[in-house]
Amino acid sequence: MRLGTLEAGGTKMVLSVGNEQKELLEQESMPTEAPEKTIPAMIRWFEARKIEALGIGTFGPVDLNPASPTWGWITSTPKLAWRNTPLLPRLRDALGVPAAIDTDVNAAALAEWRLGAAKGLNSCLYVTIGTGVGAGIVAEGNLVHGLMHPELGHMLLQPRENDPSPKGFCPYHAGCLEGLAAGPAVEKRWGRKARELPEDHEAWELEADYLAQMCVTAVCAFSPEKIILGGGIMQQKHLFPLIRRKTLALLNGYIQAPAILEDIDHYIVEPGLGTRSGAMGALLLALEAVLPRK
Ligand code: ADP
Ligand code: ZN
Repeated sequence: MRLGTLEAGGTKMVLSVGNEQKELLEQESMPTEAPEKTIPAMIRWFEARKIEALGIGTFGPVDLNPASPTWGWITSTPKLAWRNTPLLPRLRDALGVPAAIDTDVNAAALAEWRLGAAKGLNSCLYVTIGTGVGAGIVAEGNLVHGLMHPELGHMLLQPRENDPSPKGFCPYHAGCLEGLAAGPAVEKRWGRKARELPEDHEAWELEADYLAQMCVTAVCAFSPEKIILGGGIMQQKHLFPLIRRKTLALLNGYIQAPAILEDIDHYIVEPGLGTRSGAMGALLLALEAVLPRK
């Protein structure tokens, strides 16, 4: 079976074709321009490959309520051209195939849970720290949607006294995770590309502190069995031991779980699927569109 996958991002769209064996066979990337241009280009690409189902992991906010008349629409995004765009309906109707959609980070969480770092568990948290900060949550064997979908990137943190930009850079909130710790925040605060900051720069202690605060809140709020950290900023692998150490310190022995107290190296981890979590998640969504779970 030919399964189409779309990772819809603010700067690029990544399309691929895979199969039920969970293999991605072909991939193409196109810039995210206006919907009138990009949607027809995506339709042509998938049409030429005769896909039989489509899975979409997208930036948001997006309407994920299947009972809603605007299910699968991008809603109030700051990307103005994409506001109120029926992303899923347009692709599904033009291609005439079953389709499923979730956030890009829920798709990645789904793939990490089924096939990656959280395989065999009932819960996990997947967080990407890149251009923004987003999180997907699996709890009790289900992706969490709730009211809309989790927006963990905007959780409020305790800004540190030694932070030269303690309010961060989110246009909506002072002191939220994304505003303090996403790639662009690091770069605005220190006036340099994040990848060019040396390992011993104070930027990374501060970054690890904010990400550890997030881990602590996540542990207390959702009790995930695994925390998976991905995205461009986490290419700085030296952050992992810092984040683990600071998480332990901030938790202060309160959460009496051996996974944390004795084995935190296997609790806060890199994605098991590397940079493929999003595409693999979209592939699993495409499969679910054909063979709905339960
Ligand atoms: P996106 O979030 O757009 O999908 P990424 O996850 O690659 O893409 O995030 C891009 C951001 O991550 C950039 O803004 C940059 O600040 C940061 N980044 C990318 N690569 C690195 C790196 N090797 N080291 C540190 N930061 C990086
Ligand atoms: Zn915010």
